[in-house]
Amino acid sequence: MSDLNQWLQRQDDLAFVIGPLFVWFFMGIIGYGLGSYKRRGGFGFLLGVLLGPIGWLLILLFPPDGKQCPFCRSIVPHEAIICRHCRSELHSARPQRKRGQEFPTDSEINPFAK
Ligand SMILES: [Zn+2]
Repeated sequence: MSDLNQWLQRQDDLAFVIGPLFVWFFMGIIGYGLGSYKRRGGFGFLLGVLLGPIGWLLILLFPPDGKQCPFCRSIVPHEAIICRHCRSELHSARPQRKRGQEFPTDSEINPFAK
């Protein structure tokens, strides 16, 4: 066997190991990309690595971890008052108190109070 043939054989062996690893990582990256739209990037990466295209479908069906900003349609945490993408105020985060009820009543503060 010539040196060239040996060299080519070694490249094939290397590709045999690196190829699947690369594809595996690629599956995870796609999963991360799909999951990050729903604030579930890490979970999407895991599903992509473990299940490949099936994991991609699962992460697309999974409910987002947050609420949708009414202005820019991106997913922000449930507790957010200001959207981190478009800086809009998200009023729905704070329940509006009715007029004439500025302060919580005793029973709201401590439901067990008599
Ligand atoms: Zn927004």
